[in-house]
Amino acid sequence: FRRLAKTFRDAGLRVIDRCNLTILSEPGYEWVAEFLAEHEIDVVASLPCYLEDNVDGQRGGGVFGRSIDGLLRLNELGYRRESETHRLDLVYNPTGPSLPPDQAKLEADYRRELAARYGIEFGRLLTITNIPIRRYAQFLQKRGLLDDYLRLLSESFNAKAAEEVMCRSLVSVSWDGQIYDCDFNQMIDLSQKPRTVWSIESLDELVDQPIALADHCYGCTAGAGSGCGGALLN
Ligand code: SF4
Repeated sequence: FRRLAKTFRDAGLRVIDRCNLTILSEPGYEWVAEFLAEHEIDVVASLPCYLEDNVDGQRGGGVFGRSIDGLLRLNELGYRRESETHRLDLVYNPTGPSLPPDQAKLEADYRRELAARYGIEFGRLLTITNIPIRRYAQFLQKRGLLDDYLRLLSESFNAKAAEEVMCRSLVSVSWDGQIYDCDFNQMIDLSQKPRTVWSIESLDELVDQPIALADHCYGCTAGAGSGCGGALLN
């Protein structure tokens, strides 16, 4: 991880660490926060709620306290609301099979509560819809909720959000060099045409290519839309 992140930063590229905040206090990983700050790596961290009971109920006892400690440490190291070099964004996913609430309104709630309770600052709050694949799809299936959730997503289809889905401007590359339309398609090994970073001669070969679609894509196009950068429409 360190070699990859450092190589890309040294080449002048933006690197985002999708951070589980509890890692920052995990024995043996105390170096992580300083490393991220030293190399000006942006942080995107999950925090399902600003209330302890809700987070610990969902993620396990003690997770909230460790997440708050991690955020305070990042703030201390220069990850501040207005920082251009040390960006810290938070992520919210709904806990149940529903669409996320309005991103701007929830961001204002997080900003107010985290500042008042703990003195914590962050950049943006990103609300992300749960995509029904793999573990989350199995979780819903076991509870008999998968069909209802898929129906909710498809009935909430928004053509404007579909114009902004991330697969239209990004690709995802797996550890072994395979190229996918997005990380969700990568997770379920879905592609229109198998390609690797070694089999293409130029990035132009990826322009105007068909995208591999399936039912889970309704997760990106529902309501205000969803992508790795949060709601697609604000
Ligand atoms: S899940 Fe479908 S719509 Fe969403 S980014 Fe991937 S390919 Fe595009």
